[in-house]
Amino acid sequence: MATNRTFTMLKPDAVEKGHIGAILEQINASGFRIVAMKLTQMTKNDAETFYAVHKERPFFGELVEFMTRGPIVAAILEKENAVEDFRTLIGATNPEEAAEGTIRKKYASSVGENAVHGSDSDENAEIESSFHFAGREMF
Ligand code: UDP
Repeated sequence: MATNRTFTMLKPDAVEKGHIGAILEQINASGFRIVAMKLTQMTKNDAETFYAVHKERPFFGELVEFMTRGPIVAAILEKENAVEDFRTLIGATNPEEAAEGTIRKKYASSVGENAVHGSDSDENAEIESSFHFAGREMF
């Protein structure tokens, strides 16, 4: 069943550089409602579990190290067609390939340190939201 929610993380690079406010502003201005949000830090085990699908990829170790090096903003966002529209808003994984005006084009520095996560399917949005939030934290 299609849902109208997606899950996002403002990654450690975006938080370190002080981009939380600007990115949330762009997310709001693009019509997403914040359903849940918190500042948190992933443990090594959290990051390995969250990104388990990539565990055989050569960048896996680096990805886990990056995602655990500082706090992130985790959030659930609501909008019609949320998953697809949010992927459009953030742009391609590699900021060099991201469209002008997208969040990654503006704030990402490399394919690894790319500022923001967005779920790639409704099913993953649900799994990732439950990974970070309890039901009572969603509004
Ligand atoms: N990643 C990386 N090197 C790569 C590809 C991906 O470090 O060559 C990292 C990057 O942070 C990316 C995450 O792994 O956001 C997950 O990769 P995926 O292909 O799922 O990209 P996304 O869905 O985040 O655009």
